[in-house]
Amino acid sequence: MIAAILSLTALGLGLGALLGIAARYLAVEESPMVGQVEELLPGSQCGQCGYPGCGPAAAALAAGAAPVTLCPPGGRALAQELASLLGVNPDLSDMTEEAPRVAHIHERLCLGCTKCFKRCPTDAIIGANDQVHAVFEDACTGCGKCVDACPTECIELRAPLLTLTNWVWPVPEAA
Ligand code: SF4
Ligand code: SF4
Repeated sequence: MIAAILSLTALGLGLGALLGIAARYLAVEESPMVGQVEELLPGSQCGQCGYPGCGPAAAALAAGAAPVTLCPPGGRALAQELASLLGVNPDLSDMTEEAPRVAHIHERLCLGCTKCFKRCPTDAIIGANDQVHAVFEDACTGCGKCVDACPTECIELRAPLLTLTNWVWPVPEAA
């Protein structure tokens, strides 16, 4: 019994030492630029850029392998910030500014299947098995993944509900 404990302890210490050495000498140096780019990205991991999350998108941007216009939720403002950080001068004239949209679940059609709940990258959907689901608008990036997942087509993307905190004066139309 004591021999087994001693050998397991020795094995644990040996493996721990090996992991420590590997972490010290085999660590891959990450460019500081990746971290700076990632700080600018929304961090919602929505995947609308085509990358699995904001981290891989930041790595691609820092390596010059992705355009500064890649992030739909960030829009033109983020593209300009990224361009300034990365020292590039992209043509943003074709970039359309889309009004923000969020998911809305039509309760009458919701089966409570949880497919949207499991798909949402920002945990913006609340619900449980066989219960009507709902969306936390503040956490929704409008990525549309839940729309694709819903078997009853009861989710739509639409303008966020107007509240006292998000209402702004409408832009005057040109005469
Ligand atoms: S659109 Fe749907 S999946 Fe995307 S963040 Fe909003 S609730 Fe989640
Ligand atoms: S995927 Fe559609 S039916 Fe299923 S829980 Fe979500 S909103 Fe309801």
